[in-house]
Amino acid sequence: MKHPSGHYTCSVICIASLMLLFTSCSKNDKESKDLTPAPNVQEMTNYLVNQGFSEQQIVFGKDRVVIESDIIITLAELEQRVATWKKEHQPGVPQTEQRRGTYIVSNVYNTNIKFYIDPAVPADWKTAIQGAVDNWNAVNGTRLGMSIVANQASSNTRIFMGFENANWIARAYLPGSAGTPGVSVEINSNFNGLAANKKLFAITHEFGHTIGFHHTNQLSGTLIPGTPNVDPNSVMNSTVLPWNGFTAGDVLATQILYPQ
Ligand SMILES: [Zn+2]
Repeated sequence: MKHPSGHYTCSVICIASLMLLFTSCSKNDKESKDLTPAPNVQEMTNYLVNQGFSEQQIVFGKDRVVIESDIIITLAELEQRVATWKKEHQPGVPQTEQRRGTYIVSNVYNTNIKFYIDPAVPADWKTAIQGAVDNWNAVNGTRLGMSIVANQASSNTRIFMGFENANWIARAYLPGSAGTPGVSVEINSNFNGLAANKKLFAITHEFGHTIGFHHTNQLSGTLIPGTPNVDPNSVMNSTVLPWNGFTAGDVLATQILYPQ
């Protein structure tokens, strides 16, 4: 979820973090080299580009990759996906009919996805989190359900505060390939001053990532058949809007991914 404050800041931050990455790599090289083989970044990039992500929007970190500013996948998860993808794309091995590139939350979890809120999350973000849970629970004709739990051990997704002087408001993990909900939602305290109705939009949007939705205004992922090609007010648009309810396309997409 991005704040529409321009790309200049973003590129500066990206270059800065890239330099930081190189610095820390060379520092830790000796200790970590023998223990963890370098991930095959080119292979992972090829896979992500094949899934529809733009190469320019893929930023590799130490143990995860951030795509389109706010979608996170761990490198371990990505390695798993690349291995599966390579197996499926061996010459002579029949392709499955299923063309959707994203994982969604399995029936084991999707009727009650449990969110744990870190105690450091400010009250007005907590209000937005409760509102986002209520928003998704109010979608008719779907088996999808969510709740907030007090105990982290019994939760699926942890919500916590982070800080970066960058234009992402919050970011979240996609579901795991085993059908688990995205493991966390991180809120950028740089945007604690955001209007309440935009906080609500932002958290509802991030929950959309944890259940497998990509951005409606970007080309990654696969169009869910029957949903509109253009849906500017969709909650899954990557730029924050004041919350004004789900669009018909958002509701339909949810009903298709999580039928009753
Ligand atoms: Zn997003």
